[in-house]
Amino acid sequence: MDFYIRVFVRVRTSAAGVKDSPLLASRVYQCTGCGTFELEPVAKFGNSKYTPATGPKVGQSCPQCGGKWHIGGPIYNGDIHTPSFVDRVLAELDKEEEFQSHKRLRGLLTAVKEEVHVPLFYSPGSMANTLRCSTPPLAMLKSAIINAGYIVSQCHTEPLSLKTNAPSSFLWDAMKAWAKQKGEGGGAKKGSPGASILAREITHEIDFSAAEEAERKAESVRFVPAPEAGWGPKPRAGTKR
Ligand SMILES: [Zn+2]
Repeated sequence: MDFYIRVFVRVRTSAAGVKDSPLLASRVYQCTGCGTFELEPVAKFGNSKYTPATGPKVGQSCPQCGGKWHIGGPIYNGDIHTPSFVDRVLAELDKEEEFQSHKRLRGLLTAVKEEVHVPLFYSPGSMANTLRCSTPPLAMLKSAIINAGYIVSQCHTEPLSLKTNAPSSFLWDAMKAWAKQKGEGGGAKKGSPGASILAREITHEIDFSAAEEAERKAESVRFVPAPEAGWGPKPRAGTKR
């Protein structure tokens, strides 16, 4: 056995907590053409009252490419971890330097600690594929997002991803600015989602100059590869395959 985990679950009862739960669930609208997504909470709270949310917050079609929406969810839309708990685990880890997986655990926990609290991430590779351009360096995209005053991180499960509070219109503008800078994007077929997106003017100011935070995060080790192929929990003892 390589490792096992033990999960402790503490169940609390709270009438107020139950009322809060719909505030943490969101419907998802995802464009069938370009993958742009929008989250819409199913309930809202105001004037000391919980009420069903009003909507939809999106129009009939995607504002980026004109595609139709897939409707999904509701999905959980609350905080994904407790930062103080992650800090405590990191502090414990520092006392156990002899762990073989120390570097990997520290990397994963650091990525978790820095992760922006939004449930879904963007894939710059897929966005570049839609526009038929090369994928910009992650640090460059992160810099543009930080320079515009938004927060950004990777997702701890996917190194080549972006979690951010920047609107999708900003991210597409950053991708278009990159394609323009490289003289790319001409390969998007007429009438395709990519061509529709490229036809729209860039409305946000995009500043790719290196933001210190983006560079620092890109340099340090967050995503250590698995020590060997197929590494992970083995079948339960006694199970024959
Ligand atoms: Zn779209």
